[in-house]
Amino acid sequence: MKKYDYLIVGAGLFGSIFAYEATKRGKKCLIIEKRDHIGGNCYTQNVEGINVHKYGAHIFHTSNKKVWDYIQQFAEFNRFTNAPVARYKNELYSLPFNMLTFNKMWGVITPEEAAAKIQEQIAKENITEPTNLEEQAISLVGREIYEKLIKGYTEKQWGRKCTELPAFIIKRLPVRYTYDNNYFYDTYQGIPNGGYTAIFEKMLENIEVKLNVDFFAEREYYENLAEQTVFTGMIDEYFGYQFGKLEYRSLRFDNEILDTENYQGNAVVNYTEAEVPYTRIIEHKHFEFGKQEKTVITREYSIEYQDGDEPYYPINDQRNNEMYAQYKALAEQQNKVIFGGRLAQYKYFDMHNIIAEALDCVEKHFGEN
Ligand SMILES: Cc1cc2nc3c(=O)[nH]c(=O)nc-3n(C[C@H](O)[C@H](O)[C@H](O)COP(=O)(O)OP(=O)(O)OC[C@H]3O[C@@H](n4cnc5c(N)ncnc54)[C@H](O)[C@@H]3O)c2cc1C
Repeated sequence: MKKYDYLIVGAGLFGSIFAYEATKRGKKCLIIEKRDHIGGNCYTQNVEGINVHKYGAHIFHTSNKKVWDYIQQFAEFNRFTNAPVARYKNELYSLPFNMLTFNKMWGVITPEEAAAKIQEQIAKENITEPTNLEEQAISLVGREIYEKLIKGYTEKQWGRKCTELPAFIIKRLPVRYTYDNNYFYDTYQGIPNGGYTAIFEKMLENIEVKLNVDFFAEREYYENLAEQTVFTGMIDEYFGYQFGKLEYRSLRFDNEILDTENYQGNAVVNYTEAEVPYTRIIEHKHFEFGKQEKTVITREYSIEYQDGDEPYYPINDQRNNEMYAQYKALAEQQNKVIFGGRLAQYKYFDMHNIIAEALDCVEKHFGEN
């Protein structure tokens, strides 16, 4: 008999839900986490009374009622609605593209006028088969929106010119001929009152968690402590990079505390011109309608991923997907290890996706569906 039923590697959303559900079913779990805190990328830290999203803005949204009901047991959510603003030089535009955007850009008033203007712009370019992202975007929304609101931002995000990026990255660009500037289409949306970390504290209340422990530094020791492992770290690292290293895009966050009550009037402002090096500024207090005397802002930079950086966004191109398929095949042969979460599945997941995945994994694992 081993000391624990499950060793869980990673105290992010997937690992924490698995641990919570397994514990509820009478199992004994140990979580190890290499960072000095729980919560994974959802982690929020209280600074000057403001919950700062340390790994990028996290807005909860879902249309899955089961997921929404599930997360409510750990927190109450406020009515925050994501309505980002784009700043191009000294012009401000409403996002996602909607009637407010078109009015500001061209002075058009009615949906009909806006649609005609966009069609006129698209027709002028006469692009029949887009060969790169630039042509693709122009063929969907015309040159003016592309140049002011898409080009610079996309080039910063990918670190490459839009003319060098494949067209398929942008399949469609939602254009709304209404005044609806709610970024998400989902039924439910909000920010947990008190930040995300409190959710994890509640989930892990009765579970043993060891922080600052990297699984790979003491792998054998920890694996031997438990009957089974739930692994939410990087799948290529788990298998010793034997098929090569999966690629990511990374981010750098520069946080600043300012002696002002309100810096930009909105939680998210995207900087769409190429000359500004960051992609966006987050002002955290606006996620919770904060009235503190100070404010905390984060400038977000998109950067090339190098060893040791945080692996934020998988680059799901053909080469990486094929490599991942090889790792996945190996993972399926491990009968004492469950691989879950964004890093082990090499896929970008929103929080609601991870909750659905984790609950599904739990139900299958414990033979409940
Ligand atoms: C910039 C950014 C913005 C986002 N915004 C949103 C949003 O607005 N809305 C939304 O729904 N979702 C958002 N997400 C997605 C959200 O962060 C993920 O869905 C969620 O964090 C995934 O949970 P996870 O458990 O899979 O991974 P993680 O949160 O990454 O947790 C994995 C944990 O495992 C630990 N770990 C890894 N390797 C080891 C090891 N060897 N030993 C010990 N511990 C290890 C890591 O330190 C980490 O804590 C965003 C993501 C990013 C990057």
